[in-house]
Amino acid sequence: MEQTKCLIIGSGPAGYTAAIYASRANLSPVLYEGIEPGGQLTTTTEIENFPGYPEGITGTAMMEDLKRQAQRFGADVRFGIVTNIDFDVRPFVVTIDGEKQIEAETLIVATGASAKYLGLESEAKFRGMGVSACATCDGFFYRKQDVAVVGGGDTACEEATYLASICKQVYLIVRKPFLRASKAMQERVFNTPNIKVMFEYNTVEVLGDEDGVTGALLQHSSGEQTTIDITGFFLAIGHHPNTELFKGKLELDAEGYIKTVPGTSKTNIEGVFAAGDVKDPHYRQAITAAGSGCIAALDCERYLLSK
Ligand code: NDP
Repeated sequence: MEQTKCLIIGSGPAGYTAAIYASRANLSPVLYEGIEPGGQLTTTTEIENFPGYPEGITGTAMMEDLKRQAQRFGADVRFGIVTNIDFDVRPFVVTIDGEKQIEAETLIVATGASAKYLGLESEAKFRGMGVSACATCDGFFYRKQDVAVVGGGDTACEEATYLASICKQVYLIVRKPFLRASKAMQERVFNTPNIKVMFEYNTVEVLGDEDGVTGALLQHSSGEQTTIDITGFFLAIGHHPNTELFKGKLELDAEGYIKTVPGTSKTNIEGVFAAGDVKDPHYRQAITAAGSGCIAALDCERYLLSK
């Protein structure tokens, strides 16, 4: 069976940064890209807040750069999905695409998280053309325009307040008659004059043309329908970590995020490290994921040296 010192699962900024560090440490890492090569950033348009890119860069181009940088130092980047891991044996036995098996002395889990969407056909159609699940990433493109945020939690309130600082009008679409967010966040929302909270509304359809989003059709719980004119439609209805594979094996928190020893990437299983959004429900930025990937590779290197 093929063997590797370090197997990295996931190809977002965390996975690739781990691969850069691990390959420079002569660990000859093998990285499996997973279902969405390049990760969540490939679903956004331009990234303007990653240090080192003064002119901005598209998510896809950045991920290609990170991949090439990892390959330059010898990382073996492969297309494939990890479908099973036997954590009870050493080295770990990892199954790829339900067929091939590979033995790994260490694992770096960087499988990320996925934003939740409403599941409307029109929402999928305009993804990247006005529909976004990340106001911090994409909000700037809608400055001085009218936009909507869906959700009633802290993220929705935070994103609505951020968008209100750069956009003309922000509609906060909340399906319940109240916000779930913390009182402080609620107050910020209610005290921001250009946020209009629309309680008990659900989105029926995202409207648009060949240039992108132009509006949304909403329905109140009373049955009354209304249309709002917007160019940006932001989802803030939560994320789910991609940890299906690790349930019952790695220690997860109540939301399914991988638990790590504070200040490190170490999981409850020796030799298994976690990096990026899969362990971070709070910050979820490309730069924090990259930093976390670096930490995982350094922890991994030290672990192998100590053995
Ligand atoms: P939450 O799960 O807290 O909130 C999700 C929101 O989306 C809820 O209002 C929910 O409505 C709504 N929602 C879910 N599904 C749908 C749907 N299909 N249609 C319409 N609305 C929907 O997620 P968040 O991302 O806001 O927060 C995650 C965690 O991170 C929380 O613990 C939060 O406190 C924390 N956080 C903290 C921040 C801070 O402290 N600064 C900032 C951001 C997040 P309903 O209420 O009806 O279920």
